[in-house]
Amino acid sequence: MTKANTDHPRDFQSLPLQQPLLTNLQDLGYERLTEIQAAALPAIVAGRDVIGQAKTGSGKTVAFGLGLLHKLQVERFRVQALVLCPTRELADQVARELRKLARAIHNIKILTLCGGMPFGPQIGSLKHGAHIVVGTPGRIEDHLRKGNLDLGEVQTLVLDEADRMLDMGFQAVLDQIVAALPRQRQTLLFSATYPKTIDALAARVLREPVKVEVAAAHSESTIEQSFYLVENNEQRPAALHQLLASHNAASAVVFCNTKRETDEAAQALKRAGFAALALHGDMEQKDRDRTLALFANGSASILVATDVAARGLDIEELPMVVNYHLSRDPEVHVHRIGRTGRAGQKGVALTLVSKKEIYKLERLEELLQQPLRLQELPPLPKGFAPARPVMTTLQIDGGKKQKVRAGDIVGALTGDGGIGATQIGKIQVFDFSTFVAVERPLAKKALGKLATGKVKGRKFRARIVGV
Ligand code: ADP
Ligand code: MG
Repeated sequence: MTKANTDHPRDFQSLPLQQPLLTNLQDLGYERLTEIQAAALPAIVAGRDVIGQAKTGSGKTVAFGLGLLHKLQVERFRVQALVLCPTRELADQVARELRKLARAIHNIKILTLCGGMPFGPQIGSLKHGAHIVVGTPGRIEDHLRKGNLDLGEVQTLVLDEADRMLDMGFQAVLDQIVAALPRQRQTLLFSATYPKTIDALAARVLREPVKVEVAAAHSESTIEQSFYLVENNEQRPAALHQLLASHNAASAVVFCNTKRETDEAAQALKRAGFAALALHGDMEQKDRDRTLALFANGSASILVATDVAARGLDIEELPMVVNYHLSRDPEVHVHRIGRTGRAGQKGVALTLVSKKEIYKLERLEELLQQPLRLQELPPLPKGFAPARPVMTTLQIDGGKKQKVRAGDIVGALTGDGGIGATQIGKIQVFDFSTFVAVERPLAKKALGKLATGKVKGRKFRARIVGV
């Protein structure tokens, strides 16, 4: 394994990329390379296999996206790049970012193939062909086995969030997919953490990779970590309430190790008056979409989630992360708290630790190379009542498949004595439904506008789904 050269370019324009890609980057306002991009892109553009390790939010998608787009030949209508992601939400995020980066290349077709979605439309899209396929391993392997997907001309394979794919047990499936790819190809593996299992995967799948690594542990200056002692598990629901009340963050993600704990913690918070929602992998996809939408648009303040489920959360800056249990794996802990304190913002990470978990704390100290102190829980502030979220959400029973676009919704809500455009928040259009955040006091009025008016010339059913 070779280490990357440390003399890195700082701006995109100095990279040997096709001019349309460079111009588009300027239009997107991407000027300076992030650290991982600076370290990885020269090797990627030179066609080397690369292992890139950097924390969440460091810009890994742009790093591999530019690499695969740079060498893509749009006139050859074959699948030339395959990007594997652990979850559908992540695959969607990657596809979205790739589409942004590819705006300058005409007629490029990017297809997502993920589990939890019906097969029929995917088969139809595959018949039409694509240049880039982004998807989850299980579904890609399904299509391969059924002969729907030909990967014989793939030039670039990307394993995004490889650590998470291994955590989720995709190892055998990954090997099966790799067996269907040409041996002569470029493989890029990205991961936020670097457990030993990645080495084994890399040894099988990559050739003479260049390894680039950017500051594994988060700098202590941006994330303020506190650890609180709880007597036992029974104390955790009350302890969580005390922590959230005394820190009073506008929004926070509470990480749990299991589905059962997410339900327990979310229930406790709801009883205490918090606008909290639980999110875990056993939920139906449409419920997960709704939960993520409500949290991301400010209609819920607290998201209680398992690690895997929280991966779909597309939020840049989270003011606070709480660990209901300390993770057994210190790298997972570092990854969780990396959700806060991004982009130079100050982040707060609070962790509940029982006496039985002290050994985990010691492992974390070893990884972070710093002593971690346990504190007493803060008392519940007198007369505390959680603030209501500023927004609430309308769900509309129409989405992309009905050609609904955000602009249409804004039009329907603001037209003819409607609500002001500034009172509308985030709008997320899914295949069959759309979530619109509006300021809470205006929810009824907004709903009325949708009930009486039309979107795209027709009526859609809508309801308030905020907590
Ligand atoms: P990662 O995969 O490392 O967790 P992402 O690729 O999702 O991170 O990037 C995080 C965010 O940073 C995205 O919103 C992306 O558009 C933005 N971004 C990436 N590279 C740059 C850049 N060079 N300049 C500005 N923003 C960037
Ligand atoms: Mg990523």
